[in-house]
Amino acid sequence: MKHTLPKTPWALDALEPNYKKSTLDFHYGKHHQAYVNKLNEALEGTGKESTPIEELLSNVKDIPEAKRQAVINNGGGHYNHTLFWFILGPNAGGNPQEELAKQIDKDFGSFDNFKTEFANAAMTQFGSGWAWLNWCPENNKLLVEKSLNQDNCLMISKRKPLMTIDVWEHAYYLEHQNLRPQWIETFFKLINWKAVSDNFEKAKAGKTILNLETAAV
Ligand code: MN
Repeated sequence: MKHTLPKTPWALDALEPNYKKSTLDFHYGKHHQAYVNKLNEALEGTGKESTPIEELLSNVKDIPEAKRQAVINNGGGHYNHTLFWFILGPNAGGNPQEELAKQIDKDFGSFDNFKTEFANAAMTQFGSGWAWLNWCPENNKLLVEKSLNQDNCLMISKRKPLMTIDVWEHAYYLEHQNLRPQWIETFFKLINWKAVSDNFEKAKAGKTILNLETAAV
């Protein structure tokens, strides 16, 4: 059983004009596929070839040292991109609703404050990486964080990722060149808050956020 490139919940041209199909052809079709391929290669012979991705990353210390960094880089690449695709949507943007909206108000003061903090994390992640909205079950709080390369909170904590923005240049260079602030602003128009809310409900219930199937390929 091997990890496979998951289908996106929308057609590759459905996010236009905010995210172009021509960018996604590379970002999803080439970059994400390469992480999946290299993850499968790295897992060969470890006995963890079929371990679901979230479980794999949450227990990455169990991977033999010689393979561990490759699993962090490529397993993280696979997980982070999948979460990213799944929280984007056509006709999206706007504000979060219901329980998530209340929790954001509680932990950040207001949605605007949250947006500022999240955009700031995305802006100040030096070099390649991600900014995150994570759920911290230890104190029942939402947390904005950032991470380098393909790292995420599963690898280092009990926190659960709810939403993320890719700030590697490959995510935005074709459309926005070096203008990361423009990309962050565009990202807010692409967020499917219903999907983020679903992740929030799963995280609170202690459930897996991304159930990705492996396939006999
Ligand atoms: Mn990317």
